[in-house]
Amino acid sequence: MQYLSDKARTIAPYTAGEQPAGRTFVKLNTNENPYPPAPAVAAALAGFSTENLRRYPEPDSGMLRAAIAAAEGVRPENIFCGNGSDEVLALCFPAFFNPREGEGACFADITYSFYQVFAAFFGIPATTVPLNADFSFDFEAFRAVKCRGFFLANPNAPTGVGVPREEMRSFLSSVGERLVIADEAYMDFYGQSCVPLTKEFDNLLVVKTFSKSYALAGIRCGYAVGAKDLIDGLFRMKDCFNSYPVDMVCRDVCIAALSEREYYRRTISLVCAERERVREALLGMGFTVPESRANFLFAGRAKVSGKTLYERLKAAGVLVRFWDVPVLRDFCRITVGTKEDNESLLKEIADILA
Ligand SMILES: *Cc1c(COP(=O)(O)O)cnc(C)c1O
Repeated sequence: MQYLSDKARTIAPYTAGEQPAGRTFVKLNTNENPYPPAPAVAAALAGFSTENLRRYPEPDSGMLRAAIAAAEGVRPENIFCGNGSDEVLALCFPAFFNPREGEGACFADITYSFYQVFAAFFGIPATTVPLNADFSFDFEAFRAVKCRGFFLANPNAPTGVGVPREEMRSFLSSVGERLVIADEAYMDFYGQSCVPLTKEFDNLLVVKTFSKSYALAGIRCGYAVGAKDLIDGLFRMKDCFNSYPVDMVCRDVCIAALSEREYYRRTISLVCAERERVREALLGMGFTVPESRANFLFAGRAKVSGKTLYERLKAAGVLVRFWDVPVLRDFCRITVGTKEDNESLLKEIADILA
């Protein structure tokens, strides 16, 4: 198309999981929380004053940052908020990397595929490092890469494999002045957050989201925790792009969610218990399933390709995620749902195998 830039014509955008309209599926393809947001969220929405919407929201998201800081045990100056953690991760590329060989970003070959898209969009060189055979990170190989920093999804997507905080600490101690960006989208299902380490390491930025454990994917809010200099860098980039990424409704909803620790502790433990039950069942049916620390399972089985499993499940009304690329095509990523969702999944898989 003659009006499009070279970039718009040639870049490969991220493809999100299907959000089907019409037919109701048992939807286990985008790692959404199977439980509703906490009751305080509904109360916050019901109490929201429409009159306020005349005004722009605070450009520094001050109220929300204060609430997140209190929940994370850090200071508001150590928090940056964005319109989904995807936006926060995107802003990291221009904030911390240069479009020159040796000054780019490094991440695993199998990880959140958005990192590659952001790198291409911002013209930042990206080096990928293969995972070990057991799907763990090859930290030795990471260390050997000449770059300005690393993106480590922990737990990793789509494998679910987690890195304990103490292993992250040794990696952080070993990378010199390079930055480590820990994408903790699923960390609440694991409980090994590196947020406490941000007080020790000025080269650590932890990125979190309200989309998964807080059951608020529809509200679009994520945040970063780190040293003030890193946070200031993100603010400089935001203010070149969108001064108001967090709207007032989002602010009130997220502040309400943060006040409901007990509710979320309970729903997270229900998801984790189901995760273990579904994994055992899949192992029993002959699948390979790495131990998951997230709210999804990465499952593959000899003689059934990922594609076949995905297509047969879809025909039966169960949506899972499948990627038609080398290494991933033997597997599907299956979100842990409610007990009923998971029962439907396991029953359909048993039928497919029979
Ligand atoms: C879901 C997810 C995110 C982003 O979620 P947002 O909805 O944009 O906050 C970031 N990283 C990983 C690894 C994810 O799976």
